[in-house]
Amino acid sequence: MSSATNIGGLHKLSAHSMCYSIPGKILEIKDNIVTVDYFGERKKAKNEFLDLSIGDYIYAQAGFVIQRITANEASASLETWKELFFKLREIDLRLAKAPKNLYQIANNIRQKHLGNSCCVHGIIEFSNYCRNDCLYCGLRKSNSSLSRYRMSPDEIIAAVELSAKELGFKALVLQSGEDLYYDDDMLVGIIKGILKKNAVFLSLSIGEKDIVTYKKLYEAGARGLLLRFETSNPSLYSKMRPGFFLENRLELIKQLRKMGFLIMTGFLIGLPQQSEQDILKDIEQTHSLGADMFSFGPFIPHPQTPLENSVSPSLGLVLNTIAQARILNPEAKILVTTSLETLDKENGARLGLLSGGNSLMINLTPEKYRKLYEIYPNRAGIDLDLKKRINQVVELLHSLGRAPTDLGI
Ligand code: SAM
Ligand code: SF4
Repeated sequence: MSSATNIGGLHKLSAHSMCYSIPGKILEIKDNIVTVDYFGERKKAKNEFLDLSIGDYIYAQAGFVIQRITANEASASLETWKELFFKLREIDLRLAKAPKNLYQIANNIRQKHLGNSCCVHGIIEFSNYCRNDCLYCGLRKSNSSLSRYRMSPDEIIAAVELSAKELGFKALVLQSGEDLYYDDDMLVGIIKGILKKNAVFLSLSIGEKDIVTYKKLYEAGARGLLLRFETSNPSLYSKMRPGFFLENRLELIKQLRKMGFLIMTGFLIGLPQQSEQDILKDIEQTHSLGADMFSFGPFIPHPQTPLENSVSPSLGLVLNTIAQARILNPEAKILVTTSLETLDKENGARLGLLSGGNSLMINLTPEKYRKLYEIYPNRAGIDLDLKKRINQVVELLHSLGRAPTDLGI
């Protein structure tokens, strides 16, 4: 798929040994903000839970310290990264040089502002039950042809454990339809069960819940929230999500941000009746919500939904949107979504990363459930064995000179 394995030494970080983060050495501590260094790069991260001193080594994700490691562990990891890190940086610089078109300009801005770091989150889809009927989504409750599943709390915790301990993931998202089977106590139990045994940055993507529930989930240790506003056009929003109002969704996202959650939000590109003007407003809306990560991707019609006869947007429109979002938001993390990979299985992810994108998600849902989480058909990567899929992503990142590291702010 790429030339990554031909680049001297790059094969060292295979899926089996790979860490999705580089350890940083603490240089400075000011209140709860630590400054760390790795290979001369300085980053800041927020420390909420650990008793840290200058000289300690830590892993951070999404701007939060998640784990302290010993100097021996750090030097083993840094040794693996040393040669690779500078080679990757060189490749990235070369690919971002002398921009000539919109995509290259966006890529150049990404490189200048954020270097070659790329965050790689794992996502575990734990239930495909949903009480809602969004017109665009295959999980909608009226889709009676879908076999439904729910993972038990123990299964969810075991899937996280595998992702963190065997596959090396440090940032994970738990996603589901809006499924009331998981009450507050159950969700709190799952989060605490995960964090007791695993040093991960944990995010939720479970739709609209009241603020009291979200407070409990925050207190249990969840720190990230993936909740798209879907479209900034209020009448299109209510058409696509019958019974719901854009205003309420935006207000919830704002309150959750205030509570301290790191916010991943965005929209769907190519909804029926969405104009190009709407998409520009969507970018602005994502920015004005203070999104820590922009998450937007193409709408892909599902045959068992009322939008079965709609068409997906063109690859060009999606790449233009990524590039515009990057140019308007030089510092943002911009996710290259699985739906973009699905739109163009051969080149979608690569082109997204070369048009301003700098984040990816890898589906870590256990194999027996993965196909049933059918938001839209033929999702990219769904058939691959996990380790093969991870290797594919690592090879792609390496071929573009991106380091799967996400230390901090
Ligand atoms: N139920 C939660 C929610 O709606 O926020 C989380 C799960 S939902 C499946 C996650 C995202 O899937 C939604 O925010 C939506 O943008 C996306 N999605 C749903 N149907 C889609 C489709 N047909 N094509 C592309 N993305 C879709
Ligand atoms: Fe349910 Fe989310 Fe799909 Fe809407 S987008 S039907 S809330 S899973």
